[in-house]
Amino acid sequence: MMCLWHAKNALADASRSQGFQTIAVPKLPVEPAPNIPTPSAVRHVNALLVERFGTRTVHKRDPLDGLILIILSQATSDVNCDRAFSGLKSAFPTWRDCLDAPVVAVIDSIRSGGLANQKAARIQQLLREIQDERGDLDLGFLNDLPARECEAYLSKFHGVGPKTVACVLVFFLDKPAFPVDTHVFRICKRLGWIRPKASPDEAHRVLHDLVPDECKLDLHVNLIAHGRVTCRADGNGGPKCGVCSIKAYCNFGQLLQVPEGSEAARISARDPDFFVTIKAKKELGEVEAIDQLKP
Ligand code: SF4
Repeated sequence: MMCLWHAKNALADASRSQGFQTIAVPKLPVEPAPNIPTPSAVRHVNALLVERFGTRTVHKRDPLDGLILIILSQATSDVNCDRAFSGLKSAFPTWRDCLDAPVVAVIDSIRSGGLANQKAARIQQLLREIQDERGDLDLGFLNDLPARECEAYLSKFHGVGPKTVACVLVFFLDKPAFPVDTHVFRICKRLGWIRPKASPDEAHRVLHDLVPDECKLDLHVNLIAHGRVTCRADGNGGPKCGVCSIKAYCNFGQLLQVPEGSEAARISARDPDFFVTIKAKKELGEVEAIDQLKP
């Protein structure tokens, strides 16, 4: 079968030979997410996770502190990130001091957080861009702007992506935003809320609109907790669908639904990883239906 790229070139060749300059290639339809939830389904998933992991409140903090803290949090633990941030703040009482310091001094102050060379350069570059753009190093004015305007403003800076922007909004400015980290991304694909091939940028756009504002903070934090203990990554034990409190809303969980009272249901009650086994066996073509499985 001819792929789109070859079809496009064949059409272009044909057009050129007939003296045409432009061609119109029909766009392939984009496959939608398999399980787009209603707002009330998202609220219910949020309520189930709140029941298990609790609810959060946020106290507004300085948004520039937030941007720097998020840069420091990359590829390290929370403890090391906090240590690096404290080191930075005690070495440089103001962000102006940090901007004017030699980069080696900044590197030394954040060494405990890992990747100190890259992070120090990024922090100083960000401070320089903000200084050039605003004439000072104060982002307090963001508190008075609507979320969308804050998002547009912060996205202008080099290296500040949608996840960083959403984290600053939700954790430092107490504005509605839904950061998509690796756990949230994986779980939302399994839930079927985003396309299997969605990029992180697409996931941010889609989920920002899907998740009601009042659920955004709790759902983000609790999906991370859920991803650590239950809906784990494939390389970390895989999802434990058998003990999952949100399985009724999950595309992946429902595909592997076990009929009540069946032998498979009895096995799954004993073995929370049973569904992962079924999925693997299905992919290998060893079984077509769950009931074919023997204990
Ligand atoms: S049912 Fe399974 S895949 Fe779906 S959210 Fe729960 S653990 Fe994850």
